[in-house]
Amino acid sequence: MDNKLIIIVPCYNEEEIIEYTIQKLNLLIENLINENLVSPQSKICFVNDGSIDKTEEIIQSYCKNNPKIMLINLSSNSGQQIAMLAGINNVDADMIVTIDADLQDNHLIIKDMVKKYLEGYQIVYGCRKKRETDSFLKKTTAGMFYKFMNKIGIQIRENHSEFRLMSRLAIEKLKEYKEKTIFLRGIVQNIGLKSTEIYYDRLERTAGKTKYSFFKLLELAWTGITSFSIFPLRLITIIGAVTSFISILILFYGVISYFKHAAVQGWTSIIMTIAFFSGIIIMSLGIIGEYLGKVLIEVKNRPLYHIKDIINKM
Ligand code: UDP
Ligand code: MG
Repeated sequence: MDNKLIIIVPCYNEEEIIEYTIQKLNLLIENLINENLVSPQSKICFVNDGSIDKTEEIIQSYCKNNPKIMLINLSSNSGQQIAMLAGINNVDADMIVTIDADLQDNHLIIKDMVKKYLEGYQIVYGCRKKRETDSFLKKTTAGMFYKFMNKIGIQIRENHSEFRLMSRLAIEKLKEYKEKTIFLRGIVQNIGLKSTEIYYDRLERTAGKTKYSFFKLLELAWTGITSFSIFPLRLITIIGAVTSFISILILFYGVISYFKHAAVQGWTSIIMTIAFFSGIIIMSLGIIGEYLGKVLIEVKNRPLYHIKDIINKM
């Protein structure tokens, strides 16, 4: 069996750190080859997600002298999930490891991941031990997100993001998922197969800033929820049922008030009920709209990304 490893690294405006990352990953892959853990054809595949800084030039300069470094240039910024997928779809590997360009996830763990693969695991999840390098906001919102996901029945691994190893078989299964709005973490978990976890300490970013604003993160969480659960839709039905019941009570109240000749006094309650129910109706329409929007995206079936060029193609 050939053990060709491809490390896929999505990059968006990472000029401050990319050189460091290239050197570290190159050293790692050479060590793995020397130790006979992976085949000499193993490579590092950088996916440049439409960066507008010097990221592309820097990677390209390394590609010239080192065939082990492959570069896929996307024509525009499509987001980390799609960038990773572009990498996965354009390499031929026995095992793929995805890792962020800032190497916050300890890249030396990749060696342990490979060993697990050689033991027969199809998916190896990198899980962080603690979240102490995260901001307070990120820590608490992440905690809430995992709790909420588990409550509504979406099984995702806590403290695992995109750092993982997948075997050829796992990749084949992944490619069977044709959806356009992707939440890789959820899909990979869905695949099943024999898997294990490796725990590591996540480091701080040594250079550059996070490319995930709070809103980008919120968007990812929402994609996660809506692509794996129809719970929000069901919630509308429940809210609708409850509010209908309350309306009946209000109806009784109105009729009784009428017979007591006290109807005009009801201005406050009317305005309150109108406000309350308008709120619920608009919110419900919004949630339905969200799903409808997703259906539209899926139906259109547009290509997820466009590749500008590939350097050191396999
Ligand atoms: N990234 C990307 N496209 C984007 C945003 C981010 O390819 O639109 C990459 C980024 O270069 C990095 C990874 O996704 O390699 C994770 O981003 P970041 O480290 O900024 O996220 P954080 O660790 O702060 O969650
Ligand atoms: Mg990071």
